[in-house]
Amino acid sequence: MHLRYSCRLYPTKGQQSLLARTFGCARVVYNDALAVRREARKAGLPYPTATELQKRVITGAKRTPERSWLASVGVDPLIQSLRDLDAAYRNFFDSVSRKRRGRLVGLPRFKSRKDSRQSLRFSRNGFRVRPNGKLYLAKIGDVRVRWSRALPAEPSSVTVVLDAAGRYHASFVVDVEPEPLPETGREVGIDLGLGSFAVLSDGSVVDNPRFLRKAEKKLKAAQRELARKAKGSRNRAKARAKVARAHAGVADTRRDWLHKLTTGIIRENQAVYLEDLNVHGLGRGRLAKSVHDAGWGAFRRMLEQKAARHGRTVGVVHRSFPSSRLCAQCGHRDGPKPLHVRQWACPACGARHDRDLNAARNILAAGQADRRNAPGGPVRPGAATPHRARPVERGTRLGDPPRTGIRAAGAGGIPVR
Ligand SMILES: [Zn+2]
Repeated sequence: MHLRYSCRLYPTKGQQSLLARTFGCARVVYNDALAVRREARKAGLPYPTATELQKRVITGAKRTPERSWLASVGVDPLIQSLRDLDAAYRNFFDSVSRKRRGRLVGLPRFKSRKDSRQSLRFSRNGFRVRPNGKLYLAKIGDVRVRWSRALPAEPSSVTVVLDAAGRYHASFVVDVEPEPLPETGREVGIDLGLGSFAVLSDGSVVDNPRFLRKAEKKLKAAQRELARKAKGSRNRAKARAKVARAHAGVADTRRDWLHKLTTGIIRENQAVYLEDLNVHGLGRGRLAKSVHDAGWGAFRRMLEQKAARHGRTVGVVHRSFPSSRLCAQCGHRDGPKPLHVRQWACPACGARHDRDLNAARNILAAGQADRRNAPGGPVRPGAATPHRARPVERGTRLGDPPRTGIRAAGAGGIPVR
């Protein structure tokens, strides 16, 4: 299986300008190839093959006066750039035909010099890790690396990224053998919350860490400062760099924290069940900020990757499963629960529920039920009902929900509606 390992790179000034030139050339090759494919589409012609494209926008283009400078950089990252375009088209077609799950992927777009993230990929032919720990990149030279951990095997490719904060990273793809962990009988359901980061069915609550909030405060301050600077001024450029650095700081801190959290959950549990939240869909709505800050997408990805590597299971319960409406005790299906309802009492059995913990227990039961029905198979919508719901007369209420702990709409910093 493939794993990614990332670390910081520290190119010299000379290497930085070589990299900048290569970023530019790779972008031009990508855009030229995209233009060729778009023209073919417009003219109703079949798409040119990878070989034809390569001939046209790299080998052939080098001989023309407008593109002769392509010869001044290594050819490997240029070929990889074409592969990226190919992959972008493949993702688009797979997404349209629903072969690819998740958010719809759009057609590839032109890349810009102003994009906040620049990247280059080198195949096995284009790089080497030196015995002294430096990273040799073809036509760039030996670049200093700060290794966060040793690579477990020879990497098959490396992507060099320049982020908006002006930092260079190397992301190695390494093919590794799975490392199954000793089996444990424990299984857990996880409800991803808004107040806290997550609530586990065993009752533990994972709070958003304070250091992350601190980093976010710093980011907000930097953003306010940026908003005050006059457009086009040198101070504005400085303030923008500061915002980018603060962003990068928040992202790094969150990633480290999520790695520790997911490693712990995977180590302790044989199976982990989650709700399939439409993170992309939510991201466009009003909850956008808290959703992105919470890093749910990254959380799920890390869990899935670690589970695959360590012989654990991650089950995803379909988003139509009413995890917050069902009573985990008796299976009664209650009415909808707006986000501000943090606690409720089951009208059928009288059990008092913390909203998130009850949801986590339902997710655990649904995931387990579905895994029994289809071992190893995907969790299907509707297939996952933990208990049969008891019929309840319409209008019957065994008791009013407790008033304690119910916050007024909009209170507590959670945007409601
Ligand atoms: Zn109940």
